[in-house]
Amino acid sequence: MKREKPQLIINGRRLDGRAPQDLRPIKIEVGVLKNADGSAIVEIGNTKVLAAVYGPREVVPKHQEQIDRAIIRCRYRMLSFSTPGERKSPAPSRREIELSKVIREALEPAILSYQFPRTAIDIYVEVINADGGTRTAGITAASLALADAGIPMLDLVAAVAVGKVNGVIVLDLNEVEDMYGEADMPVAAMPSLKRITMLQLNGVLTPDEFRQALALALDGINRIYQLQKDALRRKYVEASE
Ligand code: ADP
Repeated sequence: MKREKPQLIINGRRLDGRAPQDLRPIKIEVGVLKNADGSAIVEIGNTKVLAAVYGPREVVPKHQEQIDRAIIRCRYRMLSFSTPGERKSPAPSRREIELSKVIREALEPAILSYQFPRTAIDIYVEVINADGGTRTAGITAASLALADAGIPMLDLVAAVAVGKVNGVIVLDLNEVEDMYGEADMPVAAMPSLKRITMLQLNGVLTPDEFRQALALALDGINRIYQLQKDALRRKYVEASE
């Protein structure tokens, strides 16, 4: 639901000082949990997301097993203290169930699941602090956790949202921009293969705005992809030197 719009862009700058095409500051760390097969933390501005991957492992319950591939399961949750105020109930919400599916479907095209028949790959995304873009940060983190778990993929998946705020196309919306903007469009892609694996649009864009927004999203995704590769390199190359 879009409410009455406050002024979110003043003299070409957003309320946090960014230009329309700027990402928030990003911090990525891979391999942050000892007990998981793979893990990663992604911070983008005030949004902070932890992803953990377990598997390929035995399928429980057994009837979910597929003879020709691994099944991919995903659980997205927001920690009850991740949002300001007391708005988030700890019970799984419809939104969390939907986002679990959205994140899984954004990652599935990258995973070579036929290499692991009769197994399960479980992906957990925990939102530690929420300020817009949690599904996209979750996808970016989960694909790194999959790589950290050694699961073969066609490419990493990176994701970011674009949108329209006070008539301007902007990259990487924060919560206020998401809430009061005219449109919000999360996009995920396998950057080196130039394949989009998720695209959602909430709000209204003209065809020209849509093209401009998509190009900006893909540019942001490429920048995030470089940071993902840097983070993997820090864990795997520099650690062995
Ligand atoms: P995304 O986090 O992928 O942008 P939404 O568009 O659904 O997904 O949410 C936008 C932002 O609104 C979230 O990042 C979070 O900051 C806030 N938000 C969403 N759901 C809740 C909730 N139940 N309680 C408090 N804040 C929420």
